[in-house]
Amino acid sequence: MKVRDRVELVLPDGRTIDYAIQISPKSRSLRLKLSARDGMVVVAPPNLDRHKLLSIVAAKADWIGERIASFDAVRHLITTELAARPQAFDLPGLAESWRVEYKLTRSRTVGARIEQPGRIVVAGAVDDVEACHAALRRWLARHAIMALSPWLANLAEPAGLRYSDLAIKNQRTRWGSCSTTGRISLNCKLLFLPRDLVRYVIWHELCHLLEPNHSDRFWMHLRHFEPAADSLHGRMRDAWKAVPSWAQRGVGLLL
Ligand SMILES: [Zn+2]
Repeated sequence: MKVRDRVELVLPDGRTIDYAIQISPKSRSLRLKLSARDGMVVVAPPNLDRHKLLSIVAAKADWIGERIASFDAVRHLITTELAARPQAFDLPGLAESWRVEYKLTRSRTVGARIEQPGRIVVAGAVDDVEACHAALRRWLARHAIMALSPWLANLAEPAGLRYSDLAIKNQRTRWGSCSTTGRISLNCKLLFLPRDLVRYVIWHELCHLLEPNHSDRFWMHLRHFEPAADSLHGRMRDAWKAVPSWAQRGVGLLL
């Protein structure tokens, strides 16, 4: 019996634990061993496929987390650092909370989809953390299109404001923009902000249809549609802090 390799398991609270896989010719099913000396060891029969093994262990993460937490001798094995892959996130702009589950498959790519309300499954080569982040960002952009298109239309139409098109982007430095041709762009990361701030950004861009600058006339229009415009504008300064690092393109940097 020899230890083949060590793998990382992400626990439901976002912390991680390393475990060893030990192939045992005598073993018929998967077994979990916890000890102070060897830490967590998963004993597996020789014919069990590695991907299958990892997904079985991952599916038991809840139970394993509880076992380890209640076992003094091994509790120190759990890292205190949060795993880089998000286990859950909130979208206050839509009053939604999402849990994220990761499924390792043989696929070389990673995709994210809604499995049921409030639950996203990220599947594929999920041991690639950056690929998981990218899949979640693509999901966020798709989700933002569905949520922000009607929101924009519902504010614009009664106000008699006509835009030509909506584009959802993941810009680093801008929450939104409005082109001279009437095309409005909104940042998909808006969904991490409270509803009143999302509404403020939408009104802000809509008012650029009337005034392409930030002149007094622009502010007069904006205050007309959004009476709290000045205080909301002030709150936008710190709004970037609400965006989790995985949602930022490139290396997780916050502005
Ligand atoms: Zn502006």
